Amino acid sequence: MESQTYDSFPRVPDQWVEIVKAQVAELWPVIEVPCIRGGGGGAGGGGMLPISKNKWKHPNPNRGLLTCWKAAFAKGYKTIGDLKTHWAGSGDYSSPKDPSGNKICLKCQLTGECKTGCGRSNSHLVYGNDVIAKLHKHLEDCGVPN
Ligand SMILES: [Zn+2]
Repeated sequence: MESQTYDSFPRVPDQWVEIVKAQVAELWPVIEVPCIRGGGGGAGGGGMLPISKNKWKHPNPNRGLLTCWKAAFAKGYKTIGDLKTHWAGSGDYSSPKDPSGNKICLKCQLTGECKTGCGRSNSHLVYGNDVIAKLHKHLEDCGVPN
């Protein structure tokens, strides 16, 4: 007998629940909203850091060299390695050196950007006109018009 009355009962309480829900509607959203906000905010805040992890930016790149590289890029030079491919200077291809004897990181000087782990990071410097002229000559030897 008890199980029968129990089975037949739920329909009535269902209606009551609807009535109760309608009467205390203000209480239900208060419980749910903090859960949604907490999940969404946490995921969005952590996604921005890894992008610039290894990127190194030249503080004051030479604009003339940047312009030359843009022109080279427009002619189909995609990477610094393409300069070597187009080498038309005398003798074997060799990267220009700075007054201290460091091989100059062309990527850094031509694009204004490189990586923190670059093997030539000791040439990630602001150079004077002598070195800039040398780099322009190097670009010329690689088929890039000034
Ligand atoms: Zn570099």
